[in-house]
Amino acid sequence: MRLCRFDDNRLGLVEGGTVTDVTAALDVLPACRYPLPGWDLLIEHLDAVRARVQTVRAVGKPVPLERVTLRSPVANPGKIIAAPVNYQKHLDEVRSDSQIHAGNPAHTITIQQAGVFLKANSSLVGPGDGVTLRKSDRRTDHEVELAFVIGRRASHVSSADALQYVAGYAIGLDISIRGSEDRSLRKSADSYTVLGPWLVTADDVPNPGTLDLEISVNGQQRQKSNTKYLILGVPELIELASSFYTLHPGDIVLTGTPEGVSPIEPGDRIVATIAGIGSMQVHVHG
Ligand code: MN
Repeated sequence: MRLCRFDDNRLGLVEGGTVTDVTAALDVLPACRYPLPGWDLLIEHLDAVRARVQTVRAVGKPVPLERVTLRSPVANPGKIIAAPVNYQKHLDEVRSDSQIHAGNPAHTITIQQAGVFLKANSSLVGPGDGVTLRKSDRRTDHEVELAFVIGRRASHVSSADALQYVAGYAIGLDISIRGSEDRSLRKSADSYTVLGPWLVTADDVPNPGTLDLEISVNGQQRQKSNTKYLILGVPELIELASSFYTLHPGDIVLTGTPEGVSPIEPGDRIVATIAGIGSMQVHVHG
């Protein structure tokens, strides 16, 4: 099942090139009062929401996807985790290009040495929101990445069991200012995490380790790879992250980017595609 969030917090069922408003399915979520849970309620209750979607879809009228504005399919993640240098050819280009590594030795070590990092939740947007460049005088790059969303509480999970903890998959953009600062700062500007175009539930992605992914800017292909080249795959990333902290429903994990990162500028039109998930268009604003 493909679920999107669109326009003013509507829930949508995506089929073919259409979206059907199934916002009424959110009625199955528990009412909350302050303090709110520190994780995403929709993802926590995804099975119940999906069952309700099958009922309420009958009264909805499909409209073309082009007519809606796509937001991040996860509204309230507890955290956004990201994997650095998780493709060998990307590590090679980081090591060989001073504009990318910026002279910081911390940027050229392996993922086994570096571990994962966190991006600010306030950086999260959907494809329809677009990216607004924050530091116009700094090189800022696109990074296309397979993203996944945690479906249930996970602590000390082994890689053998890890895929049972995934709610679904999406395309992630890890927009990155190049420079000497810590990744968590350079990659956390407002709108520098794009998640979309929708959540594809895990049952529709039987093997996240064999997906073609690519990105083009203004019609020119910049990155093209396959998730089989991930150094740490989805199960290994869950094992690593859950050994340090508990993962909660709605936590987002960006799995890392392949080679071919390059600068973006105001006015650019990005198209990112992952096989089995879909394609999303993102505009870059100044
Ligand atoms: Mn990245």
